[in-house]
Amino acid sequence: MALSLPVYLDNHSTTRVDPRVVETMLPYFNENFGNAASKHHEFGWRADAAVGHARAAVARLIGADSGEIFFTSGATESINLALKGVAEGLGSSGDQIITAATEHEAVLDSCRTLERAGFTITVLPVDAAGRVDPDDVKRSMTPRTILVTIMMANNEIGTITSMAEIGAHCREAGVLFHSDATQAVGKVPVSVADANLDLMSFSAHKMYGPKGVGALFVRSTHPKIRITSQMDGGGHERGLRSGTLNVPGIAGFGMAAELARQEMAGESIRLASLRDVLEEGIVSQLGDVTVNGDRKSRLPHNANMTFPGVKADRLIIGMKDIAVSTGSACSSAAQEPSHVLRAIGRTGEEVLSSVRFGLGRFTTAEEIQFTINRVVQTVQTVRARTLQPAHLST
Ligand SMILES: *Cc1c(COP(=O)(O)O)cnc(C)c1O
Repeated sequence: MALSLPVYLDNHSTTRVDPRVVETMLPYFNENFGNAASKHHEFGWRADAAVGHARAAVARLIGADSGEIFFTSGATESINLALKGVAEGLGSSGDQIITAATEHEAVLDSCRTLERAGFTITVLPVDAAGRVDPDDVKRSMTPRTILVTIMMANNEIGTITSMAEIGAHCREAGVLFHSDATQAVGKVPVSVADANLDLMSFSAHKMYGPKGVGALFVRSTHPKIRITSQMDGGGHERGLRSGTLNVPGIAGFGMAAELARQEMAGESIRLASLRDVLEEGIVSQLGDVTVNGDRKSRLPHNANMTFPGVKADRLIIGMKDIAVSTGSACSSAAQEPSHVLRAIGRTGEEVLSSVRFGLGRFTTAEEIQFTINRVVQTVQTVRARTLQPAHLST
């Protein structure tokens, strides 16, 4: 089979929508185009039924109840709602929020906004694998702590942090616990109960669903969570998030969740073995390559590698037929060197020599073989050029 180029290995930025998800969405653009809030006719009822069906599928994937799922426009909105909504809801009882250095910009920037509003933000360091020490979380809590927010899986290095112990500390202290689980949901098993989570944000487009739709899980009992809506209007989503529901997007999210639940086990084995082939193929031929992130507890489709002496942007420009990235798409837009790689102890130079590969459901063994060859070739070419005296270079 001919390889179709460029090879897409940027699945942490976004994923292709699964064709079965597209199929599920189409009727809600066409014959079933109704507004899910229209209570008086068949069009509205059909849309509402689709939303209910999707809500149940999304809830099932994370071990929640349907009533604990609130649809949003994506993880960024869910995170803003969780952090600012809790800060506003609980602002009278405390003012400290605890988070970690490797969080996504949606978390870090929301925290900066809350800091300007008078909240105290504690940013915890991580170890060399990118993991927060649960004891650090416990030690950082004060009677003024209202919320802890720690990501489940990192979007650059793939490190998975176990939530249960951190969640237990939070529960003991009566502090709410939120996680940005955008990279974990649909890729590795997630149970909000086992993780002791009160709030969790995630997104459809990172798990083969459409862009522009996400969810916030809000635990419904023990504790009862006070969270203030950030969008005023018609009172949709039980008053937490006003605005006409994105019915086709939500129907697609539901199908994506159902597919992930059924196919995750097999898919993660396939992707982890392709990822290992990629890493071993590159490391065995180039030698001095470092693999970033935790070697054991890591997303199965993540490979983040440092190529000493090679600037990542030159490497990426040199292999236009492979779509990869230097870090998160968000920070690439801002041209900032990765705060995640800095936080795990990489030097400034190492950060600028690192590339993130993100495999996905549609990645093939042929594509991985092609990528190994292209990366090795390009690194060798870039190094040869760099080593040449300036007057000899063409
Ligand atoms: C992609 C991503 C987000 C943002 O999700 P959107 O749905 O694009 O807003 C937040 N956190 C992590 C870890 C991500 O990977």
